[in-house]
Amino acid sequence: MIVELVSTGTELLLGQIINTNAPFLATRLNELGFSVIYQTTVGDNRDRMKLVLKTALERADLVITTGGLGPTQGDITKEVTASLLGKTMYLDEASAKQIEQYFATRRTCMPSNNLRQAMMPEGARIVENTCGTAPGVIIEDEATGKIIINLPGPPHECSAMFETSIVPYLSERFGFQGAIVSRVLRTYGLGESALEERIKHYILSQSNPTIALLARSGEIHVRITAQAASEPKALQMIHDLESQIRPLLGEHVFGIDEDTIEMSVGKLLLEKKLSAALAESCTGGLVTSRITDVPGSSRYLTGSIVCYSNTVKMEQVGVAEEILAEKGAVSRETAEGMAQGIREKFCAGVGIGITGIAGPDGATADKPVGLVYIAIDGPAGTNCYEHYFTGARTDIKNRTALAALSHLRHYLLTI
Ligand code: ATP
Ligand code: MG
Repeated sequence: MIVELVSTGTELLLGQIINTNAPFLATRLNELGFSVIYQTTVGDNRDRMKLVLKTALERADLVITTGGLGPTQGDITKEVTASLLGKTMYLDEASAKQIEQYFATRRTCMPSNNLRQAMMPEGARIVENTCGTAPGVIIEDEATGKIIINLPGPPHECSAMFETSIVPYLSERFGFQGAIVSRVLRTYGLGESALEERIKHYILSQSNPTIALLARSGEIHVRITAQAASEPKALQMIHDLESQIRPLLGEHVFGIDEDTIEMSVGKLLLEKKLSAALAESCTGGLVTSRITDVPGSSRYLTGSIVCYSNTVKMEQVGVAEEILAEKGAVSRETAEGMAQGIREKFCAGVGIGITGIAGPDGATADKPVGLVYIAIDGPAGTNCYEHYFTGARTDIKNRTALAALSHLRHYLLTI
């Protein structure tokens, strides 16, 4: 079953919004065993949209559009679909009532042009929108047996409608398609080529499952994808390959799929029954922010101080004045002093101290922009790591945060 996704909306072409509907639908359809082999984006222009849909219908069995179902004059997807398939439009009373009801329960007046949303192509199956007003439609072309599905543009409406109505429709209409399942092993600490070197044998001999390496915000993801007659079979194939690859990647794998490195750190802190406290300078609280992205982090995070000035480093975190004077704010000794000081001040199991030069100013002859020290003080003593990061200010901050979480993770693994 060949599928083409058609994302509509001039704002997508202008780069004003990021297309999140197409990746969502592609992921889900692949999981369901449908082959998404084309993705097209077109603006809100009748002629061009018609041409795109015509081409899509020629090369796919199923075309799913997103966007352009709303009440404004620019919302034309349904009309264009109907005209391509030679269907007339009529006012669907049930949809009109539902839209009126939507406004009534919110105690707001319905603008009259909202009724445009209740105009439907003849013979279409109407799909209820549980999160918004614009219904979706499924139109089957009797002549060719091909199908166009129109889904709304707002991502939460699109995904809700897909899950509640389209998935059941597809399985009823086409039956089970087999399964394509992916698992991502998330790694940090090995460069892309070093990682590739370790699993080269498997990459070169891959067929099913396939292996792909993807660099994502400082992490390297290894995506394993298996195609099989059923989901459990595909999962078993993934499991078999994963158990061969994992030992080669060692502790660099910190999680799978949606796991984050801060989740992994959180789990380890709980496991080791340790709390953490942070003294952050160049990251401005970013590491603490990431740690607190994990629900339940209050069980292991005691607190943190953003100690930007030397005064705060001395008075609040306890870094010795002589260290700052002799070694400088960006130094191994200062980072260690910050880690030890914050651990003591907050009576924490481990203390993390982070200091560096995020740039673009602040470099000296022997301390370039991107020089960062990350220290960890805990039951296994004090460790300090030196990094030379590159990139813009925010890149350096993000790379530092990721490195700090990774060092903390490795430190905890040794305890
Ligand atoms: P509405 O009833 O809100 O007008 P619609 O079905 O007509 O919905 P559009 O008008 O095309 O859809 O888009 C509405 C909004 O949905 C856009 O401004 C955008 O924020 C979001 N949106 C549309 N398409 C996408 C997409 N492919 N990816 C992410 N967001 C999208
Ligand atoms: Mg719209």
